[in-house]
Amino acid sequence: MVQEVSIEYLKDQIRNVPDFPKHGIQFKDITTVLKQAELFSYIVDATVEIYKDKNISKLVCIEARGFILGGAIAARLGAGFVPIRKPGKLPAEVLRKEYSLEYGTDTLEIHKDAIETGDTLLLHDDLLATGGTAHAATELLHAFKPKKIYINFFCELDFLKGREMLANYDISSLIHF
Ligand code: AMP
Repeated sequence: MVQEVSIEYLKDQIRNVPDFPKHGIQFKDITTVLKQAELFSYIVDATVEIYKDKNISKLVCIEARGFILGGAIAARLGAGFVPIRKPGKLPAEVLRKEYSLEYGTDTLEIHKDAIETGDTLLLHDDLLATGGTAHAATELLHAFKPKKIYINFFCELDFLKGREMLANYDISSLIHF
């Protein structure tokens, strides 16, 4: 049972921080939501409701804010948890994907033994902006030839059209800006 919380209320509880981490970015700070017990469990419940019949075997979550809700969602779905991390953080052998940012590049890594061919995956992050990060993550996941990849975000910045980079996937976001 998903307890009733209005999406508008939830949206209002996200703090906007102008010019963080750099000038011109309006940062969506979700810590103001996460600290409220009823909102935290509402987000987890609402996400579990979407995926509970999809036979998700692993939640693949992107460092670092993707880990927070992702861990709770994984436990509730009865799925395993797989981290995708920034370079040099994972201790064993990794697959690596470099991708372009507005200025420069960034890199994501996943353990080589993290996923099996039969897995049905739910890729999760806190927020979809331009889609570059999630797209790079899907490229890492394809190397494992999983059965299916679903994608979920807590928030999506619709005006940045990140979804267009992820056009071939089944995507859901709880909050849209
Ligand atoms: P992108 O690759 O542009 O879709 O950016 C997504 C990643 O950057 C996610 O891991 C987000 O946590 C973070 N991010 C990008 N823009 C914002 C924003 N305005 N507020 C909060 N996090 C953001």
